Amino acid sequence: MDYRGGRIRRKIYFGTAILMLGLVLGMRCAQLPTGCGDETVTGIPQDSWLQVDGGQALEEGTKLVCLTFDDGPSPTTTQVLDILKEEQVPATFFVTAADHNREYLPLIARAVEEGHQIALHTAKHRYQDIYASTEAFWLDIKELRQSICHYVDLSTVTWLRFPGGSTNTVSHKYGGSSIMKDLKEQAREKGYQVIDWNVCAEDAVGGHPTASQILKNIKEDAQDKSVCVVLMHDTAATATTVQALPDIVSWFRSQGFTFCTVEEMARQTGQTGPA
Ligand SMILES: [Zn+2]
Repeated sequence: MDYRGGRIRRKIYFGTAILMLGLVLGMRCAQLPTGCGDETVTGIPQDSWLQVDGGQALEEGTKLVCLTFDDGPSPTTTQVLDILKEEQVPATFFVTAADHNREYLPLIARAVEEGHQIALHTAKHRYQDIYASTEAFWLDIKELRQSICHYVDLSTVTWLRFPGGSTNTVSHKYGGSSIMKDLKEQAREKGYQVIDWNVCAEDAVGGHPTASQILKNIKEDAQDKSVCVVLMHDTAATATTVQALPDIVSWFRSQGFTFCTVEEMARQTGQTGPA
């Protein structure tokens, strides 16, 4: 996009807009059993998922989309990577390392090789364990880091997405009502950058939504945003996400979005960490 010439440069502060839209959509989405796996989690997290203060403004007309995939790698990841390669689109993978993921962990190396970002999610993805205490949470992250260290340079892995999102309440049952606040503070102290999402594919809900339903969900959430962080999954159970992916890419392209990793989006918008 050419920023030169006589066009008026009106800066748009995305964080505020996204927060407001996130709140509105969050109220709708929170009623749905969306999120990671089949747990009951929040839909769109209900506080600001990006830090606004100090953020830069993007030029009017600039639209960014981060495709993000949680809970892989799995057999599905190969197909996702094939499509992303075909489409020349970067994405961000928030990986797990549970027993059923382990044989697919080498796909992380392929994702890195092909220009995607690898980020942390959880090793075990069992809420009752990881949210039992803050210590338990960081032990699980340590296990995840050890599991993926053969496939990605850990010094490049600085982004984290909390299972269920940073404002989930299911964790309260196991670790008390302040556990997410404590974990967010500790994440910051440890140098992690935390991100949720503001567009729900709702592809991991029960009943296996069709590809067209997934595309519809994404369009509904994304249509009025300039920065989209799309939550999808690359698990063995999300085959319809793969079916929908080419159309998802086409739709964002048709709306004028540029694809980037979470890291790149943060660099361009000046976002620096958890709210
Ligand atoms: Zn998850």
